[in-house]
Amino acid sequence: MGLHRPHNRHGLPTLTQIEKKSAGRVCLVGAGPGDAGLITVTGLARLRDADVVVVDALVTPTLLEHAPPDARVIHAGKRGGADRDLEQDQINQLLVDEVRAGRRVGRLKGGDPYVFGRGAEEVAYLASHGIEVEVIPGVTAGTSATLTAGIPITHRQIASTVTFVTGHEDPQKGGSSVDYAPLAALVKTGGTLCIYMGIARLAKIVGRLRDAGAGDDTPAAVVQWGATAAQRSVLGTLATIVDQVRDAQLSSPAIIVVGRVAGLDEPGLDFFTRRPLFGQRIVITRTRQQASTFRDMLADLGADVLEAPTIELREPETWAPVDDALRRIGEYDWLILTSTNGVEGVAKRFEALGMDARTLAGVKVASIGDATAEAIQTRLGVRPDLVPDHYVAEALADALIDQHDIAGKRCLLLRADIARKALPERLAAAGAHVTEHTIYRTVVADALPQHVLDALRRKQVDWVTFTSSSTARNLVEMLGDERDLLQGVRLASIGPITSRTMRDLGLEPTVEADPSNLPGLTDVMVGYR
Ligand code: SAH
Repeated sequence: MGLHRPHNRHGLPTLTQIEKKSAGRVCLVGAGPGDAGLITVTGLARLRDADVVVVDALVTPTLLEHAPPDARVIHAGKRGGADRDLEQDQINQLLVDEVRAGRRVGRLKGGDPYVFGRGAEEVAYLASHGIEVEVIPGVTAGTSATLTAGIPITHRQIASTVTFVTGHEDPQKGGSSVDYAPLAALVKTGGTLCIYMGIARLAKIVGRLRDAGAGDDTPAAVVQWGATAAQRSVLGTLATIVDQVRDAQLSSPAIIVVGRVAGLDEPGLDFFTRRPLFGQRIVITRTRQQASTFRDMLADLGADVLEAPTIELREPETWAPVDDALRRIGEYDWLILTSTNGVEGVAKRFEALGMDARTLAGVKVASIGDATAEAIQTRLGVRPDLVPDHYVAEALADALIDQHDIAGKRCLLLRADIARKALPERLAAAGAHVTEHTIYRTVVADALPQHVLDALRRKQVDWVTFTSSSTARNLVEMLGDERDLLQGVRLASIGPITSRTMRDLGLEPTVEADPSNLPGLTDVMVGYR
């Protein structure tokens, strides 16, 4: 949540607020080829600042997580989830209407807005209505989907030109303005062609190039969903590519690459597909707040990550008991925190109560694992006195009992409402005085995102990860009648407690992390054969 200061210290609205209230504006943002990481820094800033986001079909849904939570998202294309494609006139008018209503519009377009993206048409329309548009370049498929398929589109020795071509032209223009004769001539000198929107007409395009003199043995490649975790590609020649694409069932969106560079086989070019989790689709079930670190870890290794938050975090019904305990924290010997969420809760209450790290002088702090320990250092500014070797409640209790003579000591335990009883019970049995308060509540999330359900139904999920018992319980509850969808999917458990819960629910873990943390969970999936 953070501190929210709507006004400056004189009680006046801040400059940014005044600016934000002023006229609407529109920005065409190149969203890149479908990997959320490939938007530009400026493009991301505009997205984060938008009231309304209008997205094209090929824009990755994960980018939308960067839009403000209350921003309205309008899908302009079927693939993106709309019932039907909006006509270009409708999109143009929509943009005008939203800007005139004073809203900041982020218009996300796949790749680069001006590369076969009708960006210029949108700018012209807006300009004719007196609306100035900012346009942010993007990473186009021709340079990115090729790169990740191991094809450098130029090369000092073999390719000195690269030509972007559309395989699909404006039907109203009548006929094709693409003349394949000069293109074939370029290819013969080693030039590269990147053909967009051509997959449906592949045989025709290849035929025209061959008719115009491009040799049968000219290297050719087709890359579908390039630069994303779902990338698939085939490499061949003009003589073979049509059959290869049919056999591999590649379809749109795909880029066709023709030229010597498509036949390069130098070490290192295939780095993208060699990443350890490349090609694996992984559903993660953590809370929305916690998902991003884990998602990034997996995505960096090449996985296609789908988020299915199963838990929502809520504040306790009242802060009174927690605040009261924190004000009197000096009376305790130990503060015990068992999750980063708990640490976050303490940090927030410290802020609200005007307290800081000094309050913890003289109080020992125990953490259940390394992630919590790190949060204690960064958010509370103190170094934990104890982190057990195994990241489970029992190990924490045993370490307190064995190494710290807990009998007669006063322990403040701040954690989730649904946490297991093992920790306070063991400590109490060893003679400690345990005070426990709920610092956050967990509730089952509303429903699974539609794209996650669809992927499960189509059997397109390789792994589902469970990072706590509640993620397993909640996912099963959310699936309801459709819990069989988990059959045949590999299930990854973060540790023994979660595994036990899974088994109780009839889910057999395929792998279990050791150590029980996110890097451990990532490692077992990487190591699975
Ligand atoms: N403005 C976009 C192109 C829009 S036209 C850009 O600059 O990339 C849509 C075509 O782009 C698709 O038919 C396909 O040929 C290509 N394309 C877009 N994303 C792609 C991807 N991830 N992999 C391969 N081709 C892609």
